[in-house]
Amino acid sequence: MSDVWSQVLDEVRTQIRPEVYNNWFLPIDCSAADADEVVLNVPADYYVQWFESNFGGLLLEILQRHLGRRPSLQFRCVEAAPAPEVSMSRTETPGHANLVGVSPAYNFENFVVGDSNRFAHAAAVGVASRPGESYNPLFIYGKVGLGKTHLMHAVGNEIHRLHPKRRVRYVTCESFVNDVVNMLAHGRRVDEFRTTYRDACDVLLVDDVQFLGGKEKSQIEFFNVFNALFGMRRQIILSCDRYPHEIPGLEQRLQSRFQWGLLVDIEQPDLETRVAILQRKATHFSLDLPTDVAMLIATHIKNNVRELEGALTRLKAFVDFSGKPIDVPTAREALGILLTDPTALLTPDRITRTVASYYSVTVKDLKGKGRKRSITMPRHVAMYLSKTLTAYSYPALAEYFGGRDHTTVLSAVQKIERLLQDAGSEVSRAVSNLKEALSK
Ligand code: ADP
Ligand code: MG
Repeated sequence: MSDVWSQVLDEVRTQIRPEVYNNWFLPIDCSAADADEVVLNVPADYYVQWFESNFGGLLLEILQRHLGRRPSLQFRCVEAAPAPEVSMSRTETPGHANLVGVSPAYNFENFVVGDSNRFAHAAAVGVASRPGESYNPLFIYGKVGLGKTHLMHAVGNEIHRLHPKRRVRYVTCESFVNDVVNMLAHGRRVDEFRTTYRDACDVLLVDDVQFLGGKEKSQIEFFNVFNALFGMRRQIILSCDRYPHEIPGLEQRLQSRFQWGLLVDIEQPDLETRVAILQRKATHFSLDLPTDVAMLIATHIKNNVRELEGALTRLKAFVDFSGKPIDVPTAREALGILLTDPTALLTPDRITRTVASYYSVTVKDLKGKGRKRSITMPRHVAMYLSKTLTAYSYPALAEYFGGRDHTTVLSAVQKIERLLQDAGSEVSRAVSNLKEALSK
């Protein structure tokens, strides 16, 4: 850490409460500080907006004093590496020699059923109760992040619960391909390969079979494994991110075998299912998630359950960190641009530009000190919209609007709020036109 930065921190510490300092300044790592640029590495991207709006002014002021001029602040997010995915093929769970590669974390109990996955779920439950006898293979397809892997592990766990003697093996297609490559490279491992995938396997789950595309040797081995298991009426369960015939470079004979049993798809979950998934996950985190917050997240994050979970994890981290209550404003603040509501992407800059062009004045006028009514009214509107449509604090906005006192912004906002009570007023019309322009 540079000397300048440690001096700056010493000074910051004298100006803010210790818990705030610990939460917001201690985790920062400064990797460069000179008069032009100060680079701060922050642990999560929600830091940046929060930081800029709450401490940006303070920090710049102190930096200016130490560096002789006002540097530009650069934030870099060094987000902690994501938690490792459940290790797939190689987790030989001790005590469960018959259950290989299956993660206990994913089961039917914590899989939320909705219209988007009802059929896939029912098929999976059916297969679990009578493996090898109903649908073989069971082919689950759907776009990324919609629950295929979860469902695969859930079936594996359920089969193990209902039929503990069956030897269940889950592998990612990638690790199947690796095993083929290893076997071919070391001829001796042929027996081991046969044992693993045929003789000692009653139920084989292979995740992401699109990975076989274009890999001829692996396809030959897969074909042999498939035929052997199928011939012995052993259950095969496959997942894929597309239909079998859409996998480029997949042999015809495998394409057709993939369709011998039952094909089920998982679609994007509808709003109610997304809310239910969020609530289920929140319970898991012991997080009390109000419905309006769940709705807010679920309305904006639509295509991918993993992203829904990501949003929740981020919200939890933010709440733990900031000590704020879990409500809609906090969620907006924590999730920022994740909520791709066009207004969530608004900045005071964009708002000011739009207001300036609406009233035919300049941005400079809006930020300046001119007191003509033709300028003060647009300025107040710009302040009001900036306060209500972004997460900027009063001091941050005061700084933005030409370094005023924050009470100026506060009274501008209150003034506009008063004027808006008359729905027919000129200001009401302007604000609603501007909101519409900004939402595009
Ligand atoms: P895929 O394999 O289709 O890419 P995953 O099975 O890895 O997707 O799902 C991504 C994340 O979303 C996982 O953490 C999973 O637990 C969760 N998930 C997906 N669908 C559901 C669901 N219906 N109920 C609960 N969690 C779900
Ligand atoms: Mg998956």
